[in-house]
Amino acid sequence: MDLSFSLAETAFQTEVRDFIAAHLTADIKRAWALTSAFLAEPDVAGPWHRALATQGWVAPLWPRENGGPGWTPAQHYIFETECALAGAPPLAPLGIRMVGPVLIGFGSAAQKAHYLPRILSGEDYWCQGYSEPGAGSDLASLSTRAVHDGDDYLVNGSKIWTTHAHHANRMFALVRTGQGERKQEGISFLLIDMTAPGISVRPIRTMGGDHDVNQVFFNDVRVPVANLVGEEGKGWSYGKYLLEFERGAGIAAARMRVSLNRLRAIALGAAGDPLLAARFSEIEIDIDTVEMTELRIMASLQAGQNPGPVASMLWLRTTEVKQAVTRLGVDVLGADALPSEPMRPFHRLNRHAVMDEDALPVIPLHLNGRAETIFGGTSEVQREIIGKLMLGL
Ligand SMILES: Cc1cc2nc3c(=O)[nH]c(=O)nc-3n(C[C@H](O)[C@H](O)[C@H](O)COP(=O)(O)OP(=O)(O)OC[C@H]3O[C@@H](n4cnc5c(N)ncnc54)[C@H](O)[C@@H]3O)c2cc1C
Repeated sequence: MDLSFSLAETAFQTEVRDFIAAHLTADIKRAWALTSAFLAEPDVAGPWHRALATQGWVAPLWPRENGGPGWTPAQHYIFETECALAGAPPLAPLGIRMVGPVLIGFGSAAQKAHYLPRILSGEDYWCQGYSEPGAGSDLASLSTRAVHDGDDYLVNGSKIWTTHAHHANRMFALVRTGQGERKQEGISFLLIDMTAPGISVRPIRTMGGDHDVNQVFFNDVRVPVANLVGEEGKGWSYGKYLLEFERGAGIAAARMRVSLNRLRAIALGAAGDPLLAARFSEIEIDIDTVEMTELRIMASLQAGQNPGPVASMLWLRTTEVKQAVTRLGVDVLGADALPSEPMRPFHRLNRHAVMDEDALPVIPLHLNGRAETIFGGTSEVQREIIGKLMLGL
């Protein structure tokens, strides 16, 4: 397996670095460095999204005919890594990495023509309506109903933990349109206009103090039948296809390394502590192993092979190492962590001139990071999938 980059790939790396140097402003970098939530807010990531859009680099995995750059897996890897190392905010995955691929795979020609360019330009901001108060890991138990009424569906029910629903003008949702023998049958994949009458969004504050997630209520919301993706009742298979992209082989090692190095800078005062030094080394090695696995997956994709089980295990490992990094942050701050308030750090800068700016997001990052092993499917559920499908247990 060849993990080195070719001359052409090294030239591409230089092109990416040049673009970043010219377009990633100090303001964008600072706003992302001060973000403690797991997703950048639209006002943080938006300017970077628009800069990438002018270059055609918003959706690295989309085919060229749909507005993607037509990159190889190696180019995608180089791009993501360089953006992370430079301190660029990640773009919201909900349109680009989640509903986009479903529309490309299963959407009608009209849906593709309407929605894909709006995802690329950033005009539409999407949220994901899967989970419900009674349906999380057991997602197929969902009960939000969509009933035919003329050319529309009438939607009633509620979705919960909906990330950035308060920013989104669109939601892709799994709704129940029928009842089959198995509960996975009779589920449909709908595109919903978040400004439609009958939709209300209630904020949920997380323990990190941020407002990222919401509960969304639907009260006789009219959704045109034209907004059904694919076939009615087949939404479960489209929804699972989307989860493959949500959980799919990420490129996370570079971002974890940046976070660890920021902690190293904060920990200068504790440089003589051998226990802390050992923790840094252990986590650094963990990040190295994640990076090696990412490169192995990239190399097999590059060679036209399916990476197989290793990609699923990478998701589990990555979330665990991310949590180890944020946990280390708490130990690095020690007693200084106590006065930390649960609020979006970006907004409390002036009131906390006492604390080093780099240290501000450390505690909220740790608290928000607990969610890493919950969303996209909990670690327990992922282990069950690995046990059943890969190990045949
Ligand atoms: C920050 C955050 C953002 C989120 N964003 C979104 C979003 O944008 N859109 C969306 O639709 N959802 C979102 N979610 C919801 C997320 O997908 C669910 O929280 C997750 O699927 C778990 O479901 P649950 O919370 O109902 O927990 P449950 O399913 O009730 O699980 C409770 C506990 O039981 C364990 N458990 C459950 N089933 C099994 C099993 N079969 N075997 C072993 N253990 C099991 C779980 O691991 C967990 O520890 C988000 C969640 C969080 C925390």
